[in-house]
Amino acid sequence: MNMTQEQFGAGLLAFLRRSPTPYHAAGNLALLLEARGFRELREADAWHIESGGRYFVRRNGSSLIAFVRGRGAPEEAGLRLVGAHTDSPCLKLKPQPELRRHGFLQLAVEVYGGALLNPWFDRDLSIAGRVSFATASGVSHTLIDFRDPVAIIPNLAIHLDREANGGRAVNAQNHLPALLALDGSEPRDFPVILRDRLLAEHPACGAERVLDFELSLYDTQPPALVGLHREFIAGARLDNLLSCYAGAIALGESDGDSSAVLVCSDHEEVGSTSAIGARGPMLSSLLARMLPDREARERAIAGSMLVSADNAHGIHPNFADKHDANHGPLLNAGPVIKVNTSQRYATSSETAALFRWLCEAEGVPVQSFSVRSDMGCGSTIGPLIAANTGVRTIDVGVPTFAMHSPRELAGCNDLYGLARVLTRFYGTSRLT
Ligand code: ZN
Repeated sequence: MNMTQEQFGAGLLAFLRRSPTPYHAAGNLALLLEARGFRELREADAWHIESGGRYFVRRNGSSLIAFVRGRGAPEEAGLRLVGAHTDSPCLKLKPQPELRRHGFLQLAVEVYGGALLNPWFDRDLSIAGRVSFATASGVSHTLIDFRDPVAIIPNLAIHLDREANGGRAVNAQNHLPALLALDGSEPRDFPVILRDRLLAEHPACGAERVLDFELSLYDTQPPALVGLHREFIAGARLDNLLSCYAGAIALGESDGDSSAVLVCSDHEEVGSTSAIGARGPMLSSLLARMLPDREARERAIAGSMLVSADNAHGIHPNFADKHDANHGPLLNAGPVIKVNTSQRYATSSETAALFRWLCEAEGVPVQSFSVRSDMGCGSTIGPLIAANTGVRTIDVGVPTFAMHSPRELAGCNDLYGLARVLTRFYGTSRLT
């Protein structure tokens, strides 16, 4: 791959910083792809796909699929697909979030996905997402990011809860409303605050009044390289923006010989069942338009492979008994192949062997994860896309700590290793 580890790390940090929501993530992926010769197609338009052409589509502004229509015949060579997701567990504002009580203006939230809630307390939070508004000529939608730390959820002092360190339960309804301002100092209603912010960020948008929004809180502390030798990356949304970024960089390096696809889906953290999620028709519909001849498409799918990249659980030295002793992935010891006999992961020995072979060829170490037999197993988009399309699939990911916290931790070598292997995967002429 044409990027050093330092360049890749710096690019990832910038991407994470600019992508507080799936809308921003898909927007930044679009910019990254456009800079590499990809052109956006609208699903509502007629498509004229050219051999060697580079394209992407977005749905709802938060799910993105990019593809290279290879010069070779896809029915002979198959497609190389990489899957990831743009969403992360977070706190989303309720439709009518205002609470005015005890002298404060607060914002009520709903928990999105399986968030670790305790780390959201005592952080300098901002607000970002999509706002829909009325203009003189109709309805418009645009992204917004307050950037400044405008909100905070203070903890309860230990003096008022002496049992806090023994396990304080977080009640999402009662404990998570965020402080936004002193009630007396902020007479504006929240939609007016939003409209004013919108006009400050986009002076030409013509917003007259806000009609609706999808906004979430995010931690303003930027991602950083940490550790004595800066060997780790700490930040929000590593699950799974790091795989989206690695996939996009890898796809950008495709030489155009083979057909290659990158799927970055929203709604993974809430089960993927939606018009834009991995359980929906977005990928199948794209494949049908990319390869309109049914016989050729079915042959291409039969020869294809999907690498579903989503974070894996590294073995935490303070909680090592949560792992099977032989399957505890180490940070900075390589990407992880995830296996589960109940098909919570779609990996087969055949796809795992191909991935190991690619890692060997690239000189990247690789590890294995299998959950403890007395514990349940997580899942991801791999099995869903495999079931929807019939493409043989492998689930892999970078070993991570604190998954679903607003401050996750991963190893720098692993991110770069994943990007290198995905680049090699897109460029390989053989999938058997
Ligand atoms: Zn994930």
